[in-house]
Amino acid sequence: MRVMNVSKDYARSGTALRDVSFELRKGEFVFLVGHSGAGKSTLLKLLSMAERPSLGEVRVSGYSSSSITTREIPHLRRRLGIVFQDFRLLPDRTAEQNVAFALEVTGTPHAQIAPKVARLLTQVGLTSRATAYPHELSGGEQQRVAIARALANDPFLLLADEPTGNLDDRATHAIFVLLREINARGTAVLMATHNVGMIQRSNLRFLQLDQGELRFDGTDTARLLAD
Ligand code: ADP
Ligand code: ADP
Repeated sequence: MRVMNVSKDYARSGTALRDVSFELRKGEFVFLVGHSGAGKSTLLKLLSMAERPSLGEVRVSGYSSSSITTREIPHLRRRLGIVFQDFRLLPDRTAEQNVAFALEVTGTPHAQIAPKVARLLTQVGLTSRATAYPHELSGGEQQRVAIARALANDPFLLLADEPTGNLDDRATHAIFVLLREINARGTAVLMATHNVGMIQRSNLRFLQLDQGELRFDGTDTARLLAD
Protein backbone atom coordinates (compact mmCIF):
# COMPACT_ATOMS: atom_id res chain seq x y z
CA MET A 1 0.00 0.00 0.00
CA ARG A 2 1.48 3.27 -1.11
CA VAL A 3 0.45 6.90 -0.99
CA MET A 4 2.36 9.03 -3.47
CA ASN A 5 2.38 12.84 -3.34
CA VAL A 6 -1.29 12.93 -2.49
CA SER A 7 -3.22 16.15 -2.03
CA LYS A 8 -6.93 16.38 -1.38
CA ASP A 9 -8.95 19.56 -1.76
CA TYR A 10 -12.59 19.83 -0.79
CA ALA A 11 -14.68 22.39 -2.59
CA ARG A 12 -16.05 23.93 0.59
CA SER A 13 -13.23 23.62 3.11
CA GLY A 14 -10.09 23.77 0.98
CA THR A 15 -7.00 21.60 1.38
CA ALA A 16 -7.44 18.57 3.65
CA LEU A 17 -4.16 16.86 2.64
CA ARG A 18 -1.05 18.34 1.04
CA ASP A 19 1.63 16.28 -0.74
CA VAL A 20 1.46 13.25 1.56
CA SER A 21 3.67 10.23 0.78
CA PHE A 22 4.29 7.04 2.72
CA GLU A 23 4.31 3.30 2.35
CA LEU A 24 2.70 0.64 4.47
CA ARG A 25 4.40 -2.71 4.27
CA LYS A 26 2.72 -6.07 4.45
CA GLY A 27 1.61 -6.88 7.98
CA GLU A 28 2.72 -3.60 9.53
CA PHE A 29 1.02 -1.83 12.46
CA VAL A 30 1.06 1.95 12.09
CA PHE A 31 -0.66 4.70 14.06
CA LEU A 32 -2.03 7.85 12.47
CA VAL A 33 -2.05 10.90 14.75
CA GLY A 34 -2.93 14.54 14.50
CA HIS A 35 -5.35 17.09 15.85
CA SER A 36 -8.99 17.12 14.86
CA GLY A 37 -9.17 18.34 11.25
CA ALA A 38 -5.57 17.28 10.48
CA GLY A 39 -6.77 14.98 7.67
CA LYS A 40 -6.76 11.53 9.30
CA SER A 41 -10.26 10.48 8.17
CA THR A 42 -9.63 11.89 4.71
CA LEU A 43 -6.49 9.79 4.42
CA LEU A 44 -8.36 6.64 5.48
CA LYS A 45 -11.11 7.38 2.96
CA LEU A 46 -8.49 7.74 0.23
CA LEU A 47 -7.13 4.31 1.12
CA SER A 48 -10.59 2.70 0.84
CA MET A 49 -11.15 4.77 -2.33
CA ALA A 50 -14.24 6.37 -0.81
CA GLU A 51 -12.50 9.57 -1.93
CA ARG A 52 -10.11 10.17 -4.83
CA PRO A 53 -7.01 12.31 -4.51
CA SER A 54 -6.99 15.75 -6.15
CA LEU A 55 -3.31 15.19 -6.95
CA GLY A 56 -1.03 12.19 -6.62
CA GLU A 57 -1.85 8.51 -6.47
CA VAL A 58 -2.94 5.87 -3.95
CA ARG A 59 -2.10 2.23 -4.62
CA VAL A 60 -3.79 -0.48 -2.57
CA SER A 61 -3.93 -4.19 -3.26
CA GLY A 62 -3.12 -3.90 -6.94
CA TYR A 63 -5.55 -1.04 -7.53
CA SER A 64 -4.59 2.53 -8.32
CA SER A 65 -6.68 5.60 -7.56
CA SER A 66 -5.77 6.78 -11.07
CA SER A 67 -7.41 3.86 -12.81
CA ILE A 68 -9.81 2.03 -10.45
CA THR A 69 -13.38 1.96 -11.75
CA THR A 70 -16.51 2.51 -9.68
CA ARG A 71 -17.36 -1.13 -10.26
CA GLU A 72 -14.00 -2.29 -8.90
CA ILE A 73 -14.26 -0.35 -5.64
CA PRO A 74 -16.45 -2.97 -3.90
CA HIS A 75 -13.82 -5.59 -4.78
CA LEU A 76 -11.14 -3.51 -3.11
CA ARG A 77 -13.36 -2.89 -0.05
CA ARG A 78 -13.77 -6.63 0.42
CA ARG A 79 -10.03 -6.89 0.84
CA LEU A 80 -10.06 -4.20 3.54
CA GLY A 81 -11.58 -4.11 6.99
CA ILE A 82 -12.84 -0.76 8.24
CA VAL A 83 -13.86 0.18 11.78
CA PHE A 84 -15.14 3.50 13.04
CA GLN A 85 -15.32 5.41 16.32
CA ASP A 86 -19.11 5.06 16.38
CA PHE A 87 -19.14 1.28 15.59
CA ARG A 88 -21.84 1.53 12.88
CA LEU A 89 -23.56 -1.74 13.73
CA LEU A 90 -27.00 -2.58 12.42
CA PRO A 91 -29.20 -1.88 15.48
CA ASP A 92 -31.91 -4.40 14.63
CA ARG A 93 -29.51 -7.33 14.31
CA THR A 94 -27.70 -9.30 16.98
CA ALA A 95 -23.92 -9.43 17.29
CA GLU A 96 -23.74 -12.66 15.30
CA GLN A 97 -26.20 -11.37 12.68
CA ASN A 98 -24.10 -8.24 12.21
CA VAL A 99 -21.04 -10.37 11.52
CA ALA A 100 -23.00 -12.81 9.32
CA PHE A 101 -24.31 -9.92 7.24
CA ALA A 102 -20.77 -9.05 6.06
CA LEU A 103 -20.39 -12.64 4.84
CA GLU A 104 -23.83 -12.76 3.19
CA VAL A 105 -23.24 -9.64 1.09
CA THR A 106 -20.01 -11.04 -0.30
CA GLY A 107 -21.72 -14.25 -1.35
CA THR A 108 -20.15 -16.62 1.17
CA PRO A 109 -21.70 -20.09 0.81
CA HIS A 110 -24.49 -20.44 3.36
CA ALA A 111 -23.00 -23.49 5.09
CA GLN A 112 -19.78 -21.62 5.82
CA ILE A 113 -21.39 -18.61 7.47
CA ALA A 114 -22.33 -19.93 10.93
CA PRO A 115 -18.97 -21.60 11.64
CA LYS A 116 -17.10 -18.55 10.42
CA VAL A 117 -19.19 -16.20 12.56
CA ALA A 118 -18.51 -18.41 15.57
CA ARG A 119 -14.79 -18.35 14.86
CA LEU A 120 -14.76 -14.56 14.46
CA LEU A 121 -16.70 -13.97 17.68
CA THR A 122 -14.26 -16.27 19.49
CA GLN A 123 -11.34 -14.31 18.06
CA VAL A 124 -12.71 -11.06 19.48
CA GLY A 125 -13.67 -12.67 22.81
CA LEU A 126 -17.41 -12.28 22.44
CA THR A 127 -18.89 -15.77 22.19
CA SER A 128 -21.04 -15.26 25.28
CA ARG A 129 -22.68 -12.16 23.77
CA ALA A 130 -23.43 -13.58 20.31
CA THR A 131 -27.20 -13.17 20.53
CA ALA A 132 -27.19 -9.72 22.14
CA TYR A 133 -28.33 -6.64 20.25
CA PRO A 134 -25.99 -3.64 19.96
CA HIS A 135 -27.97 -1.61 22.55
CA GLU A 136 -27.44 -4.42 25.06
CA LEU A 137 -23.67 -4.27 24.63
CA SER A 138 -21.08 -1.95 26.17
CA GLY A 139 -19.10 0.33 23.87
CA GLY A 140 -16.09 -1.99 24.04
CA GLU A 141 -18.25 -4.99 23.18
CA GLN A 142 -19.85 -3.16 20.27
CA GLN A 143 -16.43 -2.32 18.91
CA ARG A 144 -15.47 -6.02 19.17
CA VAL A 145 -18.48 -6.90 17.05
CA ALA A 146 -17.47 -4.22 14.55
CA ILE A 147 -13.95 -5.64 14.45
CA ALA A 148 -15.25 -9.20 13.96
CA ARG A 149 -17.38 -7.89 11.09
CA ALA A 150 -14.39 -6.07 9.60
CA LEU A 151 -12.38 -9.31 9.68
CA ALA A 152 -15.14 -11.40 8.10
CA ASN A 153 -13.67 -11.41 4.61
CA ASP A 154 -10.05 -11.92 5.72
CA PRO A 155 -8.74 -8.44 4.92
CA PHE A 156 -5.02 -7.90 4.42
CA LEU A 157 -5.40 -4.40 5.86
CA LEU A 158 -7.58 -3.07 8.67
CA LEU A 159 -8.32 0.67 8.68
CA ALA A 160 -9.40 1.89 12.10
CA ASP A 161 -10.67 5.46 12.41
CA GLU A 162 -10.32 6.37 16.12
CA PRO A 163 -11.68 2.97 17.18
CA THR A 164 -11.23 3.76 20.87
CA GLY A 165 -12.49 7.35 20.71
CA ASN A 166 -15.75 6.50 22.50
CA LEU A 167 -14.29 4.05 25.02
CA ASP A 168 -13.01 4.30 28.60
CA ASP A 169 -9.39 3.50 29.46
CA ARG A 170 -9.99 -0.14 30.20
CA ALA A 171 -11.94 -0.83 27.02
CA THR A 172 -9.42 1.23 25.04
CA HIS A 173 -6.58 -0.95 26.28
CA ALA A 174 -8.50 -4.16 25.52
CA ILE A 175 -9.31 -3.04 21.97
CA PHE A 176 -5.70 -2.08 21.38
CA VAL A 177 -4.54 -5.51 22.60
CA LEU A 178 -7.07 -7.12 20.26
CA LEU A 179 -5.83 -5.08 17.28
CA ARG A 180 -2.25 -6.12 18.11
CA GLU A 181 -3.34 -9.79 18.16
CA ILE A 182 -5.03 -9.38 14.78
CA ASN A 183 -1.87 -7.76 13.48
CA ALA A 184 0.25 -10.62 14.86
CA ARG A 185 -1.81 -12.99 12.70
CA GLY A 186 -0.71 -11.07 9.62
CA THR A 187 -3.26 -8.32 9.00
CA ALA A 188 -1.74 -4.86 8.54
CA VAL A 189 -3.38 -2.21 10.73
CA LEU A 190 -3.54 1.54 10.24
CA MET A 191 -5.09 3.07 13.34
CA ALA A 192 -6.01 6.74 13.70
CA THR A 193 -5.96 7.81 17.33
CA HIS A 194 -5.72 10.78 19.69
CA ASN A 195 -4.23 8.53 22.36
CA VAL A 196 -0.63 9.72 22.63
CA GLY A 197 0.00 7.53 25.68
CA MET A 198 -0.81 4.41 23.67
CA ILE A 199 1.75 5.36 21.04
CA GLN A 200 4.40 6.22 23.63
CA ARG A 201 4.03 2.89 25.41
CA SER A 202 3.94 0.76 22.27
CA ASN A 203 7.04 2.02 20.43
CA LEU A 204 5.38 1.46 17.04
CA ARG A 205 5.68 3.52 13.89
CA PHE A 206 3.36 6.51 13.67
CA LEU A 207 2.43 9.01 10.99
CA GLN A 208 1.77 12.50 12.28
CA LEU A 209 -0.49 14.77 10.27
CA ASP A 210 -0.55 18.50 10.92
CA GLN A 211 -3.02 20.61 8.96
CA GLY A 212 -2.98 18.16 6.08
CA GLU A 213 0.79 17.73 5.94
CA LEU A 214 2.72 14.64 6.99
CA ARG A 215 4.93 16.15 9.66
CA PHE A 216 6.58 12.96 10.93
CA ASP A 217 6.86 9.29 10.00
CA GLY A 218 8.78 7.10 12.44
CA THR A 219 8.93 5.84 16.01
CA ASP A 220 10.49 8.79 17.88
CA THR A 221 7.77 9.66 20.40
CA ALA A 222 9.59 12.84 21.45
CA ARG A 223 7.94 14.22 18.32
CA LEU A 224 4.56 13.79 19.97
CA LEU A 225 5.51 15.93 22.95
CA ALA A 226 6.81 18.75 20.78
CA ASP A 227 3.19 19.24 19.80
P1 ADP B 1 -9.43 14.40 11.04
O1 ADP B 1 -9.96 13.04 10.71
O2 ADP B 1 -7.97 14.42 11.30
O3 ADP B 1 -10.21 15.07 12.14
P2 ADP B 1 -10.59 15.13 8.47
O4 ADP B 1 -9.92 14.31 7.44
O5 ADP B 1 -11.95 14.72 8.93
O6 ADP B 1 -9.61 15.30 9.72
O7 ADP B 1 -10.72 16.62 7.95
C1 ADP B 1 -9.64 17.33 7.34
C2 ADP B 1 -10.19 18.62 6.75
O8 ADP B 1 -11.01 18.31 5.62
C3 ADP B 1 -11.05 19.43 7.70
O9 ADP B 1 -10.81 20.80 7.44
C4 ADP B 1 -12.45 19.04 7.31
O10 ADP B 1 -13.36 20.07 7.58
C5 ADP B 1 -12.32 18.80 5.83
N1 ADP B 1 -13.26 17.78 5.31
C6 ADP B 1 -13.30 16.48 5.64
N2 ADP B 1 -14.25 15.83 4.96
C7 ADP B 1 -14.86 16.75 4.17
C8 ADP B 1 -15.94 16.71 3.22
N3 ADP B 1 -16.57 15.56 2.94
N4 ADP B 1 -16.26 17.87 2.60
C9 ADP B 1 -15.62 19.01 2.87
N5 ADP B 1 -14.60 19.12 3.74
C10 ADP B 1 -14.23 18.01 4.39
P1 ADP C 1 -18.87 9.77 3.67
O1 ADP C 1 -17.78 9.10 2.91
O2 ADP C 1 -19.67 10.74 2.83
O3 ADP C 1 -18.40 10.37 4.98
P2 ADP C 1 -19.78 7.40 4.98
O4 ADP C 1 -19.02 7.77 6.18
O5 ADP C 1 -21.13 6.77 5.15
O6 ADP C 1 -19.96 8.64 4.03
O7 ADP C 1 -18.88 6.41 4.15
C1 ADP C 1 -19.19 6.00 2.84
C2 ADP C 1 -18.17 4.92 2.48
O8 ADP C 1 -16.88 5.48 2.65
C3 ADP C 1 -18.25 3.73 3.41
O9 ADP C 1 -18.82 2.64 2.73
C4 ADP C 1 -16.83 3.44 3.80
O10 ADP C 1 -16.36 2.30 3.11
C5 ADP C 1 -16.04 4.62 3.34
N1 ADP C 1 -15.47 5.34 4.48
C6 ADP C 1 -16.08 6.27 5.22
N2 ADP C 1 -15.29 6.71 6.18
C7 ADP C 1 -14.13 6.04 6.05
C8 ADP C 1 -12.92 6.05 6.75
N3 ADP C 1 -12.71 6.83 7.79
N4 ADP C 1 -11.96 5.23 6.35
C9 ADP C 1 -12.12 4.45 5.30
N5 ADP C 1 -13.25 4.41 4.58
C10 ADP C 1 -14.24 5.18 4.95
